[in-house]
Amino acid sequence: MRATPLAGPPSPSACISISSPLPHFADVVVIGGGIIGLSCAWQLLRLGKSVVVLDPSPASGASFVAGGMLGATAETTFSEAGSVDRHLFARAEWDPFLRDLSEDFGTSLPYASTSTVVVGVNRSDLAEIDHLVTFQRSLNLQVATLGREALDQLVPGLGRSLRQGFHLVDDAAVDNRLILRALLDVIDRLNGHLVHESAEHLDRSADGFTVTTSGGAISTSHVVVATGAAPAVLGAIKFPSIHPVSGVILRLTPRASTLRVTTTMRAIVNGRPCYFVPRSNGELVLGATSVERGYDLSVTAGELHQLLDDARIVFPSIDDYSVQDVEVGLRPTTVDHNPVVATIEPGVTVALGHYRNGFLLAPATAKRVAGLVSGSTS
Ligand SMILES: Cc1cc2nc3c(=O)[nH]c(=O)nc-3n(C[C@H](O)[C@H](O)[C@H](O)COP(=O)(O)OP(=O)(O)OC[C@H]3O[C@@H](n4cnc5c(N)ncnc54)[C@H](O)[C@@H]3O)c2cc1C
Repeated sequence: MRATPLAGPPSPSACISISSPLPHFADVVVIGGGIIGLSCAWQLLRLGKSVVVLDPSPASGASFVAGGMLGATAETTFSEAGSVDRHLFARAEWDPFLRDLSEDFGTSLPYASTSTVVVGVNRSDLAEIDHLVTFQRSLNLQVATLGREALDQLVPGLGRSLRQGFHLVDDAAVDNRLILRALLDVIDRLNGHLVHESAEHLDRSADGFTVTTSGGAISTSHVVVATGAAPAVLGAIKFPSIHPVSGVILRLTPRASTLRVTTTMRAIVNGRPCYFVPRSNGELVLGATSVERGYDLSVTAGELHQLLDDARIVFPSIDDYSVQDVEVGLRPTTVDHNPVVATIEPGVTVALGHYRNGFLLAPATAKRVAGLVSGSTS
């Protein structure tokens, strides 16, 4: 069954796909249809496996609200120093991922922006960034210093208080919703089954597993668990512990005469981070808060106020944008903030806890999961 038509600008409904009926058997059942589960499913289909993706509401979790930044350099901070190789490997995987996805999708999928500018508003913000950049350069990450003139060329319309910035030349971004739409479509094209049911129980059987869903049951040889921030409770198997870190994010639309942003921009404003990620249709994604408050999806007026206040210091023209969406997503994270991509017992592979970097890491995770399931990686 084909997914919904793909024409038109990304919108919330653009990611809704038509559900397939639940088959009796699949080589692999992927539980969870966010960026991680869908990328894994697509790679497994490309290897010739029969694949079912179970998700009551595919492409609706953190992946739907994300900024889509591929922050291999920006996300290599002091506390994440050990992850630099993982980040660089993941970033390098995006070129072939986009090329192959474009080929299967039948339409070229470009990056939303190809580099990132980092700015600080006051002296202490700049000092903080400078300190981090020195560290990133010590790891051979590519960061150029920008004076105001060079900043203006990359991002016209910056606030007057900004004098200096940095250019992260490899930190691109993608349109998260376009990528999700493409994955939903290619899974369908490659005869994968996207079933709008949740997995409720996982039991070992004589020749594999039975996954009981909200609507029936399916037998399989291998299960991939990619349930994002939801607690993975599926029977006796013990899964890594995951907790949610919530983030509020806005999508804004420029008026015809409004200045547009075409380069991703990260800023520190009086000690608080915010970012702007452009889309090819002019839309601007403004993010994001980061708060641990369980599964609470409410958005406070204070959070919104802070985000917009900070944003207008960096880019005053934001005042002329109209607010299209205010959303909150749950970043799935582990205790040490490292993702877990591993076969935890024969036939059960998990791809969990991608925290702030699910988009950056998705191609690398999908490649690893495909290797683990097919037996080519241990
Ligand atoms: C505000 C915000 C901004 C972000 N910006 C970026 C960014 O710029 N760059 C970046 O790389 N990352 C970013 N992230 C992080 C990124 O969004 C996440 O790491 C990523 O989306 C996690 O993907 P996932 O597939 O694991 O989870 P999700 O996208 O949450 O998907 C999990 C899916 O599993 C399904 N599910 C759960 N339980 C079951 C079950 N029992 N049965 C079936 N299905 C189930 C859910 O319905 C859901 O669709 C951001 C996150 C937030 C919140």
